[in-house]
Amino acid sequence: MIDKINGLLSEIENLKASKVEDIEALRIKYLSKKGEISTLMNDFRNVAADQKREVGMKLNELKEKAQNQINLLKESLENSQEGDQSIDLTRTAAPIVLGTRHPISIVRKEICDIFRRLGFSIAEGPEIEDDWHVFSSLNFAEDHPARDMQDTFFIARSPEIVLRTHTSSVQTRVMEKQEPPIRIICPGRVYRNEAISYRAHCFFHQVEALYIDKNVSFADLKQALLFVAKELFGAETKIRLRPSYFPFTEPSAEMDISCNICGGKGCPFCKHTGWVEILGCGMVDPNVLENCGIDSKVYTGYALGMGIERITNLKYRVKDLRMFSENDIRFLDQFESAY
Ligand SMILES: [Zn+2]
Repeated sequence: MIDKINGLLSEIENLKASKVEDIEALRIKYLSKKGEISTLMNDFRNVAADQKREVGMKLNELKEKAQNQINLLKESLENSQEGDQSIDLTRTAAPIVLGTRHPISIVRKEICDIFRRLGFSIAEGPEIEDDWHVFSSLNFAEDHPARDMQDTFFIARSPEIVLRTHTSSVQTRVMEKQEPPIRIICPGRVYRNEAISYRAHCFFHQVEALYIDKNVSFADLKQALLFVAKELFGAETKIRLRPSYFPFTEPSAEMDISCNICGGKGCPFCKHTGWVEILGCGMVDPNVLENCGIDSKVYTGYALGMGIERITNLKYRVKDLRMFSENDIRFLDQFESAY
């Protein structure tokens, strides 16, 4: 009988089961009322009295072991089933959440693409600039208010190094190096020492365009402006030009577009005028051309510049300029773009 018990013990140690039914079969085989262990229990009464103690202990050990082993098999089967359920290979894959482009980036790219279709190429330059490229070469008088501490962030005084206040400095750098024809667009970040509010920030983004060649006229500028306005705000968009002043252009103008919110009828956004200002432009002042080594008797050119934030506000009606630099996901998530 001891041999039989030992045989069963080693059998039980090596039990394996991959299904619930297998485990149930094992339970019936060993532990049910007619199972092998119960049969041995029944035979126990025939064991000689002097062996009862030893056989009894062995039998109890066997019963306990069988019970434990079957419980273990059940547990490991349940665990592995749980694992299987968490991977459902037939399920549709969860979409990967992509970030969105910043609204400023979307509009900057849109503007650059429009100009690219007109044959312009992108030019970039440093944000930390010297006085010559930001002011002097562009015909700013020594006492021009834009040079004042109020507007410009100065990094060094002598020689004067500043954070550029406009991207016109890139135009200067290109004109100094390149022979006309020049047809460039300069997108970039600019800095002005202004109090931060919902409509002003100490940095913002500009796009400027410059076209220099023989016989470039104001008519060419106006045609380009109309094309850009229609591409940006729709085919119904009208433009109007108002005389203005900039040190680096002569004549200079500011361009309004028919209000894209009310369609020109008048609304609070356009202050009931039906028009909104979007950019400044003009014919490049001959002094600027000469400063950059371009013969102003042979070449003429036009330049225009706009704030990207301004255009973005018009397209998306963002009321507070500060939203653009606060990195609030709830704001940024709203801008989806094919770019
Ligand atoms: Zn309006």
